[in-house]
Amino acid sequence: MARTEPAAERFAIRARRIFDGAALLPASRTTVVVDKGLISAIETSGTRVEGHMPVHELGDATLLPGLIDAHTHLVFDASDTAAVNVQSAVHRDLAAAMRLRARAMMDHGITSVRDLGDRDYLSLMLREETAKQPAAGPRIVAAGPPITSTGGHCWFLGCEADDAEAITAAVDDHALRGVDVIKVMATGGRMTPTTVPHESQYSLKELRVAADRAHFHGLPAAAHVHGRRGIGDALAAGFDTLEHVSFMTATGIDPDPGIIDAIAASRVIVSITLGLLPGVHASPLMESLTPRILAHVKDMADRGVRITLGPDSGLNPAKPHTVLPYAVEQFAGAGVGAAAALAAATQTAAAACGLSGVAGRIAPGREADLLAVTGNPLANIADIHNVAAVYHAGVRVV
Ligand SMILES: [Zn+2]
Repeated sequence: MARTEPAAERFAIRARRIFDGAALLPASRTTVVVDKGLISAIETSGTRVEGHMPVHELGDATLLPGLIDAHTHLVFDASDTAAVNVQSAVHRDLAAAMRLRARAMMDHGITSVRDLGDRDYLSLMLREETAKQPAAGPRIVAAGPPITSTGGHCWFLGCEADDAEAITAAVDDHALRGVDVIKVMATGGRMTPTTVPHESQYSLKELRVAADRAHFHGLPAAAHVHGRRGIGDALAAGFDTLEHVSFMTATGIDPDPGIIDAIAASRVIVSITLGLLPGVHASPLMESLTPRILAHVKDMADRGVRITLGPDSGLNPAKPHTVLPYAVEQFAGAGVGAAAALAAATQTAAAACGLSGVAGRIAPGREADLLAVTGNPLANIADIHNVAAVYHAGVRVV
């Protein structure tokens, strides 16, 4: 992935508190120095910054790594008919809408996204634009069109492959086009009514072919999985991240503790699909399942599963592209606490997206992707919505 063009400035940011992606730093460390788009140092409040260096004084704010949406779809319009609209939109209009959605995400502190399924490789085009112009939108990790079976989940995004040979060819084509990650629809999904979410679309052998071929090209592989068999098979096949992991059945959800323990032991990251805009009604099924889903994600966390937040933003009106902070709030409220929820959306998200060493931490050498919120989200997670400033690659965008 192209590195973001650095900003020329050298400056310092001061805030009352710094959460570095894992923990709150000691109260004395309040000053982040940014140099050419990178974090160069974290200084104590007593440190006098060089006279010519501008200091952004943010006052009673908490500075965090920019949030990372580990599972978005910039091609979807967050309407009730997103799946239909993406098929009829003309290329130019779709690209223009994606630009606006990407830009809006930064207003909510989201400075990196992993797009896990587009049409016509449009997210790769946008990736190049935001890498050159940090103010244009977040850093983008792009999968291109997801690989699915004929008529399978999200078939309309344009990449159907039904056997080992076709899967290999599809992965090769994606690699040639320069994707950052290979996305495979291992089970059906709710968005595609002709599919059954809990049923597998591929055999274990076919999933192995997909993951192995991705790794052959040096790419990570992400599996969309709802049903128990698909979850177990994708884990056994060697996928690097598991998306959703809802353990959906025909009537509800039925988590399998044995598989969850195996996921925890594997250290594979699970991207959970929390995040709903308040006041917008999700489907009655989802609303009735929410308490069980929250108990399930808490149980996964307790069993030691590495969890990040992949809200599937863009899917429907309850999931606009800016929904991630609500997923953070919901995950904290599920019982894991604020620090774990914030780490899931920053440090762990960076690992899930192949951005370890690049984003997700406030540490020297990382990109200066930063979110400042007024108040203290460690004490009151709702403060995550109080955006005071956002920096992408050292460029102040809010
Ligand atoms: Zn998705």
